[in-house]
Amino acid sequence: MATKASLLSDIQKLLREAGLRSTSARIAVLQQLRKAGRPQSHAEVATAVANLGLDKATVFRNLNDLTEAGLLSRSELGDHVWRFEIRSEKHSHGAAHPHFLCLDCGSVTCLPGSSVTTALKTSAESIGEITEILVRGHCHNCAG
Ligand SMILES: [Zn+2]
Ligand SMILES: [Zn+2]
Repeated sequence: MATKASLLSDIQKLLREAGLRSTSARIAVLQQLRKAGRPQSHAEVATAVANLGLDKATVFRNLNDLTEAGLLSRSELGDHVWRFEIRSEKHSHGAAHPHFLCLDCGSVTCLPGSSVTTALKTSAESIGEITEILVRGHCHNCAG
């Protein structure tokens, strides 16, 4: 499949540019987070790649390596769960876009940043720098 191949070479390029070796574990973790398109916890990623024979410790180590290399951003949204998110073009400004956290199932979804982010940044200027914008509620799956 052409799309899959380009995705793989994309990921290999990201790793190369970050000065990391393209190991199958790193590629699997990045592919999973790309596919998810939203922040996922260590447990979610580990479950998703378990069929590739990657154990939890390997996934954890690779998530941390990729975060240190700047390919992933890591956030804690007040529920003591670290979630990892791929830093793509869309996410190039780090944690600057808001996230929606479902209080029932714990799923996190990226919200478009744009005007809300800018407005909040401006109004918080005298207080400090915003590193995380969090919206909490009940997702459609749980509310319905
Ligand atoms: Zn939910
Ligand atoms: Zn996000």
